[in-house]
Amino acid sequence: MADKVMRVQMAEEFKICPTCGYEDGFHSMFVRREDCLQWHFICPSCHGIFDIGLTVSPPDRSNDH
Ligand SMILES: [Zn+2]
Repeated sequence: MADKVMRVQMAEEFKICPTCGYEDGFHSMFVRREDCLQWHFICPSCHGIFDIGLTVSPPDRSNDH
């Protein structure tokens, strides 16, 4: 499995693998950054990793508020 992340420009939808043409969507993976998690997508067919520029808030690990 290559761990090179490919940047992809999001169009109407992101469902078809730009590398191999697999049409049934992606697995997810998350990479912790300083203030967010980057959401990456892994093709189940060719195992390419894609970044469409999506980030999410990290889960709150502290309970002090
Ligand atoms: Zn693929």
